[in-house]
Amino acid sequence: MPLSQFDIDTTGRYSDLRRGVRGLCARFPGAYWRRLDGERGYPVEFVEAMTAAGFLGALIPEAYGGGGASVAEASVILEEVNRSGGNAGVCHAQMYVMGALVRHGSAGQKERWLPALAAGELRLQAFGVTEPTAGSDTTRIQTRAERDGDDYVITGQKIWTSRAEYSDLMLLLARTTPLEAVKRRTEGLSLFLVDLRGADEQALTIRPLETMINHHTTEIFFDGLRVPATNRIGEEGMGFRYILDGMNAERILIAAESIGDGGWFIERSVAYANERVVFDRPIGQNQGVQFPIAQAYANLRAADLMRWQAAELFDSGSPCGAEANMAKMLAADAAWEAANVCLQTHGGFGFAREHDVERKFREAKLYQIAPVSNNLVLSYLAQHVLGLPRSY
Ligand SMILES: Cc1cc2nc3c(=O)[nH]c(=O)nc-3n(C[C@H](O)[C@H](O)[C@H](O)COP(=O)(O)OP(=O)(O)OC[C@H]3O[C@@H](n4cnc5c(N)ncnc54)[C@H](O)[C@@H]3O)c2cc1C
Repeated sequence: MPLSQFDIDTTGRYSDLRRGVRGLCARFPGAYWRRLDGERGYPVEFVEAMTAAGFLGALIPEAYGGGGASVAEASVILEEVNRSGGNAGVCHAQMYVMGALVRHGSAGQKERWLPALAAGELRLQAFGVTEPTAGSDTTRIQTRAERDGDDYVITGQKIWTSRAEYSDLMLLLARTTPLEAVKRRTEGLSLFLVDLRGADEQALTIRPLETMINHHTTEIFFDGLRVPATNRIGEEGMGFRYILDGMNAERILIAAESIGDGGWFIERSVAYANERVVFDRPIGQNQGVQFPIAQAYANLRAADLMRWQAAELFDSGSPCGAEANMAKMLAADAAWEAANVCLQTHGGFGFAREHDVERKFREAKLYQIAPVSNNLVLSYLAQHVLGLPRSY
């Protein structure tokens, strides 16, 4: 049975899980997120509650103390956070960044880190890929990791590394072989787990970046930071392939967050359109108000179908690059449409902070741009699915 008339997925699947996450999120209402947004604070209590409930360790295998959940189940958790008016972006990476460790880490690395991550004793929710000069062209990153005895020495700069100040470990992509020396530009990149606790302050500087949303994002400067070679994940030079593996899961989870946002916007739009009376009738009686809400609802339901297809393919071990990318793009666009409709429906009151619409509006925009911009999704579909010439 659906939980409410505004459920976007009306099949009733995972309803117990939804109920559990909804119950937790009810303890963190709009006022909580609004206050943190104003203070640019970190939701420590929320993250602790999510960890204690086992939600953030959902994707860690049970053998290491995690939930052993499917990506479909994990996606429901993040969807419900955003559906409740919260912002899963503050902690979603704790759920999926460790995927690289699960899939490509050695037995010793998994034993060392996964149980502590599952128990919430360690946080791994910073993922340093993007650089200021490379942008979406990841193979052009310039951060170098040079082998020196038992260590690698890291030099370079990352930008938009979110939650680095609230993470014990960071997953880092760096170049171990210069671009000029590799056959394919995707080669020669390696993945490291960097322990941020007690790191040499001369060699590692983390600077917060002010942004239009409360996302705790940073730029990071590496100036000869030594990282033990035992912290390299998998083989040297294979890092790009390892992060690609994790990206499909990330895209599906982000799609679910957007679906949650869209559901919140639709519900708020309908409530306000029914209650606000102007010219002696509810504004929702006007087709100019109700049609955009109905259209946004239809588009959100359609995007959600792609999210479920992508999740089912992923969980059955089937290729799902096209579906995961389309789910992320369609859901981000549908959420953004719903955000716009919600703000428009609220008229001037949409700008008032107390309604949370303007905050959610700002937050929903992010997913058209990060973790991958929708244009890059279209390029991927054009080239890899439709067989059109590579455009970049
Ligand atoms: C709040 C926030 C948090 C983030 N968190 C993280 C994080 O934790 N870790 C991390 O590594 N990164 C993070 N990012 C970075 C994010 O992944 C990038 O911003 C995103 O991938 C886009 O890269 P870019 O900003 O360099 O844009 P650019 O690559 O400079 O692109 C700019 C614009 O040009 C378009 N464009 C570029 N090339 C093409 C092309 N060939 N065809 C068509 N259009 C094109 C893009 O679509 C985009 O609209 C975050 C970003 C933000 C804003």
